[in-house]
Amino acid sequence: MGYNIAIDGPAGAGKSTVAKKIAEKKQFIYVDTGAMYRAMALYFLKNGIRGEEEEKISATCKDADITIRYVDGEQVVFLNGENVNGMIRTQEVGNMASVTSPNPDVRKKLVELQQQLAKNADVVMDGRDIGTCVLPDADVKVYLTAGSGVRAKRRYEELLAKGMECDLEQIEKEIIERDERDMNREISPLRQADDAVLVDSSGMTIEEVVEKIIGLCDETC
Ligand code: C5P
Repeated sequence: MGYNIAIDGPAGAGKSTVAKKIAEKKQFIYVDTGAMYRAMALYFLKNGIRGEEEEKISATCKDADITIRYVDGEQVVFLNGENVNGMIRTQEVGNMASVTSPNPDVRKKLVELQQQLAKNADVVMDGRDIGTCVLPDADVKVYLTAGSGVRAKRRYEELLAKGMECDLEQIEKEIIERDERDMNREISPLRQADDAVLVDSSGMTIEEVVEKIIGLCDETC
């Protein structure tokens, strides 16, 4: 069994930025589970499936072969053999991921893949249900959050930096909708695990959050 760090929280809380840095510092593997749900959502979009088509989603997810490889320490997601890293970071795919991730067949398939990855490796894994469901025995669990205005601003700046056109108000609206869906779904809703440490990153720098979590790891070693 490897050493496992679980980071959960709503969209834009800084999970992936922080998790990547922790992985670098501790020489762990970073597992971005949101990217897997995004790759699955991309597959549904490519096949013209709509979010409400539950049965088609259940049937079609079986044909989506999602695998992860690490190239120079970066997680690369392959969808039926194609590298889709460049296609999954849009608002459209993020929203579709949030609409289709409650499907039990989608979750079963991706949770198995995630548990397999964490089995024999030291990992930092981020998502919505890592501490509560995927890695219930993780060595360190963090629930990372921030106010929705702060999170929207971060997403906005991230998209702008990539040269994508976007609207701050629209992003905040979508973030609030996405959180509501993620927190109120039946299977594995987003919530703080009983034994997770709450970290509010609203007034913290990335470095401060990283140090805080590494401190928690030092306490458990
Ligand atoms: O974190 P990211 O924005 O990439 O996640 C996209 C969507 O995938 C989330 O809104 C959520 O619905 C879903 N997700 C999930 N469980 C995870 C990770 C992501 O349901 N462990």
